[in-house]
Amino acid sequence: MNDVPLVYLDNNATTRPAPEVVKAMLPFFTEHWGNPSSMHAFGGRVAKPLAEARARVAAFLNAERPEEIVFEGCATEADNHALFGVAAAWGRPGTVITSRVEHPAILGPCLRLREMGHTIVEIGVDGEGRFDLPAYEAALAAHPGPKLVSVMWANNETGVLFPIKRIAEMAKAAGATMHTDAVQAAGKVPLDVRDVPVDLLSIAGHKMHAPKGIGALYVRRGTRIKPFVIGGHQERGRRGGTENVPYIIGLAKACDLAQAALADGSEERIRRLRDKLQAGLLKTCPDARVNGGAAARVANTLNISFEYIEGESVLYHLSDLGICASSGSACAAGSLEPSHVIRAMGVPFTAVHGSIRFSLSRYTTEAEIDYVLKHCPDVVAEMRALSPFVKH
Ligand code: PLP
Repeated sequence: MNDVPLVYLDNNATTRPAPEVVKAMLPFFTEHWGNPSSMHAFGGRVAKPLAEARARVAAFLNAERPEEIVFEGCATEADNHALFGVAAAWGRPGTVITSRVEHPAILGPCLRLREMGHTIVEIGVDGEGRFDLPAYEAALAAHPGPKLVSVMWANNETGVLFPIKRIAEMAKAAGATMHTDAVQAAGKVPLDVRDVPVDLLSIAGHKMHAPKGIGALYVRRGTRIKPFVIGGHQERGRRGGTENVPYIIGLAKACDLAQAALADGSEERIRRLRDKLQAGLLKTCPDARVNGGAAARVANTLNISFEYIEGESVLYHLSDLGICASSGSACAAGSLEPSHVIRAMGVPFTAVHGSIRFSLSRYTTEAEIDYVLKHCPDVVAEMRALSPFVKH
């Protein structure tokens, strides 16, 4: 990798920590490293920045109160907290309505909840990855008793946006608790919990230019939920464990920066670059198709299938050129199992294995997109020449 540039187009897997974020965090390692729960002044000095950080994350979501934010170890933990915490508060079997294309951080807990005696209903998507609203409406009506809806705001693999406001309104009208995994929407579309009536919402620092290992769960006041990580009194007894102060400060800074970027036209610039990449690849690579291309999508994601070839082989060759992309979800990378999201969309067999995700960020440059457009078509052509599925 010495002579090749780094062209990082895997921002749905993780993002570069913003320099401003790292700068804001550093004093909380070197100077202000006390425990915010300590009685002495040295620890107490950390309590105020912690409270301010909570208020800034709350403001990012337009939450009514800072206390509605619970800091978590990652978004997987926030998702687990939402699902297990609500089910534990029921104290009796209930129903979780989710989608077939959720992240494993939701699908995994759902499997466990099923083993525990709860009913799990997975709503499907159409060929463009769009949520099946009529099936959802039927599911809400079919299940009496306590209900939790957990449906993602934006899909990590395709970038497809679900109509989350409508989904949340329908959940509330049916008396259900509403959770959304907004990890891939945060910083890409405005998140406003006063406009969208969710009770619970998860975000992850490392998808929005803060470090890995910090997440948050928004908990609307009055939501019935038990802790998931049980221990100390921290986070008002909702999540035990000494607060990860430097990372919380980093997450708050990342929220400030994301808020500013949403207002300064960054998303439009990212969309233009993504659309240039998409149009260029469709033009130069025959038998390519965009997965979710006709649906509403976040600006940064392009999921494209090159028919008759393995996405993984393309990725390895792109990686040799310094280009970082992914096939399937980041968490499934390394496994040759086709992505459950692409399969749920009914993408034809010839294209399922050749799907590649390019995900941009506000640091992506036009020169980087041009570099991919210069090299990717040759890689695809080379793989096709070797493919047993193509008539030569
Ligand atoms: N939810 C979605 C939609 C994601 O894309 C991810 C990460 O890929 C997660 C949850 C898990 O986030 P974390 O890595 O912070 O646990």
